[in-house]
Amino acid sequence: MGYSRVLLKLSGEVFGGGKLGVDVTVVADIAREIADVVRSGTQVAVVVGGGNYFRGAELSHNGMARDRADYMGMLGTVMNSIALQDFCEKAGIETRVQSAISMAQVAEPYIPRRAERHLEKGRLVIFGAGSGMPYFSTDTVAAQRALEIGAEVLLMGKQGVDGVYDSDPKTNPDATKFESLTYDDFLTKNLKVADATAISLARDNGLDMVFFNLSTKGNIARAVAGDHIGTLVSR
Ligand code: UDP
Repeated sequence: MGYSRVLLKLSGEVFGGGKLGVDVTVVADIAREIADVVRSGTQVAVVVGGGNYFRGAELSHNGMARDRADYMGMLGTVMNSIALQDFCEKAGIETRVQSAISMAQVAEPYIPRRAERHLEKGRLVIFGAGSGMPYFSTDTVAAQRALEIGAEVLLMGKQGVDGVYDSDPKTNPDATKFESLTYDDFLTKNLKVADATAISLARDNGLDMVFFNLSTKGNIARAVAGDHIGTLVSR
């Protein structure tokens, strides 16, 4: 089969290669994979996370006001967006960053119809700054942007984990992977790989989600081709 328009969510962890800041080697590799997919004719939009800089919930646990901490988290996603834009352009594709928080010097504002025009012209669109609103996650934003721009699937790229497990495979060697799951199963089992708001938004609007490992080379192209990799979450 293969999709013609996808929304790819890249978690912040991926950008940092597990550390604070940006690991340029990792970002350059991902950018090359994305560029190949775009050149092959698939329309790709990306939502980037920011967990490699700040997570609002963690800062607020350590004493900061949650809303300010969340704005710091959102600004981190913009830094990741700029890094991804740079490496994608070096890999030879045109890109645009759209930010949900106005910062005209570095990004266009979020204008969904314009984002669709960019995609039709073969440009990669990178959505930064989350939703622009505290108390949300970039997973939820990824589901919302996917719905608003009419993406056929939400591809959830994870760092070093090849799908959804019944417990954290990084700490529990006996964790079992699900090949597929319904949204309701995901919610009842209280699984932590994506937040419940994102899952329920996808469920209510019939948006399929595929969780897969970004650390395996070629996986973005496989996910876009509709190969069965990772875990499919659907109705
Ligand atoms: N964030 C927010 N509103 C949004 C999206 C993100 O406040 O719409 C903040 C929140 O503090 C979050 C941080 O930005 O912890 C980084 O995003 P996220 O944790 O989703 O990144 P990821 O886990 O994908 O790296």
